[in-house]
This record gives sequence, structure tokens and C-alpha cells, in this order.
Amino acid sequence: MTTRSPAPSAASPTGDPWLLTPGPLTTSTPVKQAMLHDYGSRDRQFIELNRQIRQRLVAIVGGSGNYTCVPLQGSGTFAVEAMLITLVPRDGKVLLLINGAYGERMARICAYHQRAFEVQTWPEDQPVDPAQVEAKLSAQLDISHIAIVHCETTSGILNPVSTVADVVQRAGRRLLIDAMSAFGALPLDVATTPFDAVVASSNKCLEGSPGMGFCIVRESALANAGGNSDSLVLDLVDQWQAMESNNQWRFTPPTHCILALGQALDEFDFEGGVTGRGGRYRANCQALVAGMRELGFKTLLPDALQAPIIVTFHMPADPNFDFALFYDQLRARGFVIYPGKLTVADSFRIGCIGRIGRTEIDSALAAVRQTLEQMGVGECGPGR
Ligand SMILES: *Cc1c(COP(=O)(O)O)cnc(C)c1O
Repeated sequence: MTTRSPAPSAASPTGDPWLLTPGPLTTSTPVKQAMLHDYGSRDRQFIELNRQIRQRLVAIVGGSGNYTCVPLQGSGTFAVEAMLITLVPRDGKVLLLINGAYGERMARICAYHQRAFEVQTWPEDQPVDPAQVEAKLSAQLDISHIAIVHCETTSGILNPVSTVADVVQRAGRRLLIDAMSAFGALPLDVATTPFDAVVASSNKCLEGSPGMGFCIVRESALANAGGNSDSLVLDLVDQWQAMESNNQWRFTPPTHCILALGQALDEFDFEGGVTGRGGRYRANCQALVAGMRELGFKTLLPDALQAPIIVTFHMPADPNFDFALFYDQLRARGFVIYPGKLTVADSFRIGCIGRIGRTEIDSALAAVRQTLEQMGVGECGPGR
């Protein structure tokens, strides 16, 4: 094994490595350039941009008319927490459908705020089962809300949100969705997936800069949610009312992030919306999985359960494989990958989202191949 550092082979236009992670993600050059302006919070152009972005986000889920978009400063988790504590009443009870770390995080949030909750859990490599949810809801009438993660980024698994939405609607309860890593790439429409609220963020599949989350929420549900939140900054009702009255944020807005998101949404539309973006990610994912399998790697999930967002691979059993070295050598070759977050298996992850395409995936696969040769790894399977 040599210790010589390879020359970066595939740098992005800024010379930064490509981020094959679940976020932050690689953004386009025009998205970065959009941030080269300072706007005041009362600037007319800025206020107009805010208004447009809120409308465009609602339109992505087909919610124009009955839904509104409430943006919030911070990372995606801020929006998840805001959704749960604003929409689940203090005397309500939320059923959390958990098959990974982001579902677990919702349980931590509810515990912090002393919101009554119950969990239904599945292994990280298995999707939420709507039939079990249905049985739970008919047995337990005190459950007012159900929360689900669309794509559980822990493993990359796709959860059956539409089927769960039908179950929830038939049971007369209300659905909250964390679609952080799916929004903009996987179809989600209020016409086929009835929900009260969905949260996502500016970075992930919308390919803006990190720094802003948002909740798209049924207006009638929000109008009834006053006084639920036990946090001022995370109160979506308060944020909504302020924004409706003057289109301004209550507290210093993330102006650069909003400028970047405006450009990112232009690029999203140009690419053909959810269909175009999802198509590019699907092609990325297929090329990545095929290339890694050719090298002997094994995916955690069967293809039918895999969302085209991030792929989990089993750690090779070959004693020459050293993940820290693998990571560093890929980084030196221009690609940042992500450690595993699973409890069921020793693994690592490679993302398919952000401003990357087939060229970058092919270069990443070449970098993986060179790194394996350098480490003297011949066998990439997980062993038995
Ligand atoms: C990324 C992500 C979040 C939010 O994470 P932040 O680090 O707070 O942005 C929440 N849920 C899911 C499913 C995610 O992928």
C-alpha cells in the first residue's frame, strides 16, 4: 500500500470536492453567485422574492389554494421540530412511524416538549407497514396525528407515504411528513397523498444553500394551531401571521440563502420539476449501484426499496479495507462520501443528490476503483 496522496482528479468548478452526502450538497455556480448581494429585510425586491418562493414551494406539492408555506431560519430539523410542536396540540398524541435515525429524532423532539407520543418501529432495512399502522389506529383512538419520514436518509429507504396517507385519512387522523431528503425529487402531491403538513429544507433536493427549512401546511390546520407551540422562534402560527401581514420575517431573515433558493428554483423548473430532478437522481443512483456492484460491493437494500437519494453499502470484509483511509483517499480524489448511520450493519453511504450527474458518478466510481487498488483490496463483499 502506498501513502502517496493522489492528485484531485475531478474537482468542481470552485475546486471544492463533490459532496456525495445527504447534505450539505454541491450547489451550482449560479446558485452560489446568487448570494453575492446584500439585501435589507424590507427591500421591495427581497419581499417580492419571498412571496414568490413561498408560492412556488406550495405549487410543488399541488397545494395552491388550501396550503401555505411557512419558512423558518435554520437547518431541516428546526422545521421538523416546529411542525410537531405547532401542529400537535398539547393534549394531542402523535404516532411516530420509525425505521431510522430521523424517525428517532422526532421522538426526541416530542420528549423535549413533553408532547404525548407513541412509536411504531421497523428495522432500518424495512419500510413502514401501512397495515400495521391501520391496526394501531383502529385500536387507539387517542392518537390525533401520525408522523412519517418519506425517504429515511439513514438507510436510503423509501417509505410508502401515499398508502399511509390513505390509511390516516380513512381513520380520520392527521398526517405530518418529514420529506427533507425527498422533496423536489420524489412525487408528493396533496391530491394523491392527503396530509396536513410536510417539511423540507433549502439544500437537499432543491439544491439551494443550507440555512432555511419550510413547512407546507394546510391553512385550516394552521389556523387552528394557535397557542400549541411552547417555543416562540419555532411557532409556525406566529411566523405565518407575521408573514401574511407584511411578507417579512419575524427575525433577521437568511437573505443570502433565500436569494440562492430563488435561483435554485429557477434551475429546478428548467430541469423539468420533480420529474426532471428525480430522473437525474435516479440515473445517478442506477449508475452508482451498478458500478459499485461491479466492484463487488453489496447494497443494504434491494432495488425495490431503494430511493434514488442515498445508497447504503455494506462495509467490505477484506482485512485490507480501512474505512478511514478509503474516506480520506476519496476526499483527496475530489469526492466526499458519508459514514454509515445504521445500527443493523457496518456500512457507509454514497449520495446521488445535489448538482451532480453521470460524469461525476463515473469519476467517483473511478476514484473508488483506484483507492481499492491502492489499499490492496480485492474482495468488496461483506463476507458472511
Ligand atoms: C437531512 C434530514 C433532516 C434534517 O437534517 P438537518 O441536519 O437538520 O438539516 C431531517 N430529516 C431527514 C429525513 C433528513 O434527511
